[in-house]
Amino acid sequence: MLLTADPKAGYLAHAAEIRAAIDRVLAGGNYILGPEVEAFEREFAAYHQGGHVVGVANGTDALELALRAVGVVAGDLVATVANTVSATAAAIEQIGARPVFVEIEPDTMLMSADALAAALKTATGRVRAVVPVHLYGQPAAMPAIVDAARAHGAKVVEDCAQSHGARFGGRMAGTWGDAAAYSFYPTKNLGALGDGGAVYSAGAAVADRVRLLRQYGWRQRYVSEIPGRNSRLDELQAAVLRVKLKHLDGENALRRARAARYLERLAGPALRLPAVGRGAEPVWHQFAVRSLRRDDLRRALGEKGIQCGVLYPTPLHRQPAYARPEVILPETERACAEVLCLPVHPGVGEADVDRVSAEILRWPTP
Ligand SMILES: *Cc1c(COP(=O)(O)O)cnc(C)c1O
Repeated sequence: MLLTADPKAGYLAHAAEIRAAIDRVLAGGNYILGPEVEAFEREFAAYHQGGHVVGVANGTDALELALRAVGVVAGDLVATVANTVSATAAAIEQIGARPVFVEIEPDTMLMSADALAAALKTATGRVRAVVPVHLYGQPAAMPAIVDAARAHGAKVVEDCAQSHGARFGGRMAGTWGDAAAYSFYPTKNLGALGDGGAVYSAGAAVADRVRLLRQYGWRQRYVSEIPGRNSRLDELQAAVLRVKLKHLDGENALRRARAARYLERLAGPALRLPAVGRGAEPVWHQFAVRSLRRDDLRRALGEKGIQCGVLYPTPLHRQPAYARPEVILPETERACAEVLCLPVHPGVGEADVDRVSAEILRWPTP
């Protein structure tokens, strides 16, 4: 079976290095917030050419703590998109804030800066923060989104859970806003062997606040300066992430090569292929094609041993927990109904791309 994500292949590709890192932690005797976490935070900050990284327990916490650190409090509104994983809205709700769902661009399926500007205007001053999601590894149009947010006094927290290493206009995703949230869930481009997350910020103040929030508000042990909680990254995950980080650019290059091959093989009327926005350099967390017969195509490929993902079948404003019957987002709803993610992870070979493409082209065009 060709899998849509393959964390085991990601382990096996670097097994000796990962086992050595794990042995080092086991022998070191320090298992939570120790030297490996500190080293990973430094190395991941350097990957952004500077700034600050604070390791936390998972990507949802990273979003929540980043939002709190830029000043979001209960009762605030936070603008985001609805074609994302529940985690994006869950982080907002955890604070007691409320998501405002903004329409996407029809071609890139990313937050529309114009729709954002309109939403910010309607809510005059009540939107405290904006969370663009760099979905499928493609960075949203950050200059326009940041401009719109700034014009209305809103902070920007980038959801980078799918975009480790992506760039817009040559500049790293995550460095455009006031803070960025990363997930290291095993299937992400930079994946741990369990849960993990991090907040990136260029400025020291946001990082300092997240550092307090992640451990009971402690700067000094047993002294809570502000109300905090437990959202710590452990040493084993940090040690594994240090190994994986060294290979991130190489693995992103593999994803790019596979995506380029899909684009070439699948050119034609069979499918709507992913559009890359001007200035965007995606890292292809997913290769998301669109079809009006998505579910049939998915079934047919499954029968040939090709597993495809649907990220995400139901937009957040149509889910029971976040239902907004009054909100109508035609492009978002269309995208969720049509999208199909083909295998593009680093374990996918050229021959796999050719086989998947051939099966799709054999499929009768509607
Ligand atoms: C994975 C993901 C998250 C959440 O990360 P967890 O580590 O699972 O909490 C948030 N946003 C997006 C877009 C994601 O893909």
